Amino acid sequence: MTRIDIPEGSPFGLANLPYGVFSTPGSAPRVGVRVADSVVDLAATLGDDVFAQPSLNAFMAQGRARWDEVRSRVRDLVSGDVPDDAVHPVSEVRPHLPVEVADYVDFYASEHHASNLGRLFRPDAEPLMPNWKHLPVGYHGRAGTVVLSGTDIVRPCGQRKAPDEQAPTFGPSRRLDIEAELGFVVGTGSPLGSTVSPDSFPDHVFGAVLVNDWSARDIQAWEYVPLGPNLGKSFATSISPWVVPLAALEAARVPLPGQDPEPLPYLAERESWGLDIEVVVEWNGQEVARPPYREMYWSPAQMLAHLTANGASSRTGDLYASGTISGPDKHQRGAFIELTWNGREPLEIGGEQRTFLEDGDEVVFTASAPSTDGGRLGFGEVRGRVLPARQS
Ligand code: CA
Repeated sequence: MTRIDIPEGSPFGLANLPYGVFSTPGSAPRVGVRVADSVVDLAATLGDDVFAQPSLNAFMAQGRARWDEVRSRVRDLVSGDVPDDAVHPVSEVRPHLPVEVADYVDFYASEHHASNLGRLFRPDAEPLMPNWKHLPVGYHGRAGTVVLSGTDIVRPCGQRKAPDEQAPTFGPSRRLDIEAELGFVVGTGSPLGSTVSPDSFPDHVFGAVLVNDWSARDIQAWEYVPLGPNLGKSFATSISPWVVPLAALEAARVPLPGQDPEPLPYLAERESWGLDIEVVVEWNGQEVARPPYREMYWSPAQMLAHLTANGASSRTGDLYASGTISGPDKHQRGAFIELTWNGREPLEIGGEQRTFLEDGDEVVFTASAPSTDGGRLGFGEVRGRVLPARQS
């Protein structure tokens, strides 16, 4: 038997216990829980087939009462002696995409980000569009290109047209960017024709991951009118391997920064809350931003309520992301287009003046939040390296 050593202050202590999918040499992907620097095999310890699956979907579909029961059992399990063959050093397992992503939607919930992009793209107009404070603006992304942290990102090709060019050309994006976001994973869906009220959010959402919504700004700028983002975003979206359960984020709940005007009744919550999660963005190993999730205007519950307000069904494995997290200060901006003010204010990265991503660059997001044990819990990381475009 093994007693897992949990060092004081570990971001993966007993108050976190995030779920993921892993494999070891010669064995199939299955569900595990991260505890300190170990992964505990739930298929081997809890005796339920839902954990012997290559995604969390079957477990998530069992619903909130079951999530609570398993969380409590796992806490007891890893507090005591665990069978040796059910514990693996995290450095020796291969992580897999934790969720079979059903639908993917990306919101735009940061007022600071939306205002900054408004100022950049429409300098002579109001920064926010008239709808922005009435509904959480979003678009449907491409679920099939949500990839695990560590997956290389091939520079996308597409149509782009600079303002001073007469006609578009096709080729590798010249303005490849990141967006630091939080993603919410739906565990229990809702049938077609029904809605999910903001107050029933905890019955539906299983947990959260870090998201990098890679964005080709030149492709995006040319294509987005009038139907919104498409190929400038759909080439890849990276997520972190560990899904932090909603129950682990109780101590991170904070009031929203304030909504004016008051949202319409279908978006009203008994108690509206955001999350005090601090993200760190590193570009080639150098910290360039600390976006604060607590500054987000729309709450996670309001985003889900809006997604289903028209009776659209939701499914186990649906992923919806918050949109770029940006705060009021320059160092709190979660995208390079904002950090470099559309390329006009380069950052010094490794001694070079940089605006957008070059081939070979690597971006890593990490995040932490207050934990119920009085410390801080971690989200792990979402990492990606840019490879050169593949032109045929
Ligand atoms: Ca985005």
